[in-house]
Formats: sequence, C-alpha cells, structure tokens
Amino acid sequence: MSKVDETTDTATIQTFCHSCQQDIQVKLPKAIVENAHSYPVSHAYLHGDPAHVLILYVDRQYLVRGTELSETVTIERPPQTVPLNAMVLLRVPRRYRETAMAMLKLRQAMASDVAILTGKSQNAESNYLGALFRLGYLQRVRIQHSYQYSIPTQNDMRG
Ligand SMILES: [Zn+2]
Repeated sequence: MSKVDETTDTATIQTFCHSCQQDIQVKLPKAIVENAHSYPVSHAYLHGDPAHVLILYVDRQYLVRGTELSETVTIERPPQTVPLNAMVLLRVPRRYRETAMAMLKLRQAMASDVAILTGKSQNAESNYLGALFRLGYLQRVRIQHSYQYSIPTQNDMRG
C-alpha cells in the first residue's frame, strides 16, 4: 500500500524489507513517478545497519509491483551529514551562496528553477548545484536526463 499526500512533493510507499524483516516506509519524490517515461519505475532505497539496498518497482499509481534486495552495498562517498540551513549557509563557499539561498527558498528544484531565482544561466546553476551536492549540502535524484536537488531532512540523515 502507498499513501499519496496531495499536499506534498513526496509519496510514502509502504513495503516489506526481507533484510529488516519488517514493513518499512519509503519516501519517494513524486517527480520520479510523474516524470517517468515507462513503468514500473525503479527506485533504490539504501537503509539499515548494516546498510542494504531495497530496489522498489513502482507503478503509475504508486503501487509496489516488485522488490529486489541487495544485502551489500558500497558507497563511494561518505553519507551527507550537513543539510543546508541558515547557519550552514555561512560556511558555503561564496560563489555558491546565491544558489544555496535559492535552494533554501525552493527546498526541491532543478537547475532551471534555481536559474529563474538567481538570474544566472541554467548551466551555471547546474554546476553550482552539483558542487553543493558533492559538498554534502544537497541530495539529488536523477529524473530522465536531469537532476532534481533537494535539501535533506533530519530523517534522511539517519537512514
Ligand atoms: Zn531493510
């Protein structure tokens, strides 16, 4: 079962994880489902201790059509630990600050949305958002050929 809250950008998907041996809730950005070219859409959910990956196959109605489990995972970068907020903003390198401020306002956006706020080119914002992601201030999901960035919540941090 899944809950699709009309007031947020996120759907809460309820499913069972055979590694955790319990029902879990996966928060899925609706844009992943709504902008998909084909269904079901796959989404990898990294969680637990030891960490493992549950891949969900979600259809257009946010129903889970299948899952796959990987008991082991290798993460190339350390997990993000510093979600962007007003205090963190002061530590962000000066050239990214305008972009970071736009993200604080938007919470979830693509480079084109940020470019409208900052008046810079989409290309420039794409680079700046990528840098903020690598610095650990933002998280991102790939949607077709572009990325959507968002500010991690404390919940995402625990994973
Ligand atoms: Zn699990």
